[in-house]
Amino acid sequence: MNTIYIDMDGVVADFNRAAREYLNKRYADQARAEQQGRWPEHEWGKIRELPHFYRDLPKTHFADRIIELARGFRDKKGWQLYMLTAIPKNNDMPHCFHDKIDWMQEYYPDIRVHFGPYSHDKQHHCRPGDILVDDRESNTNEWRAAGGIAVRVLASEPERALAELEALLLKQ
Ligand SMILES: [Mg+2]
Repeated sequence: MNTIYIDMDGVVADFNRAAREYLNKRYADQARAEQQGRWPEHEWGKIRELPHFYRDLPKTHFADRIIELARGFRDKKGWQLYMLTAIPKNNDMPHCFHDKIDWMQEYYPDIRVHFGPYSHDKQHHCRPGDILVDDRESNTNEWRAAGGIAVRVLASEPERALAELEALLLKQ
């Protein structure tokens, strides 16, 4: 049985929009953070001052459509479905674990959360043929190298990822 894993930040939870609004930054700064997969260190320091930042994130506008497709793998194809999320690289947001689980309980309570725990550990969850939906390029590259199928989501063009995922679902 294969598994489809869905990333949280940048895929279903709108971390970058929330960060831009809180930090009072421009769209260009948000786009750069999306490309690079993280905000600059000094900005991160400000985000860290909000201990429940992860609990309060809004959903992305395409989150429900991603989840609906992922449930299709589970319900139509008999796959397992989990979220696969990461904690900050220095493990410096102690509420992060519980807040992410609480967030999922509120929005998608039928899906459990697996933690990398770090971003570069995500690849170790991969068995050949498993699917990862993630916005960070290093994660999708490492996932493919581990024998999985990865779909990269870019918040600027989510339609491409949705189409890719839909095509994959039809092929399984
Ligand atoms: Mg992400």
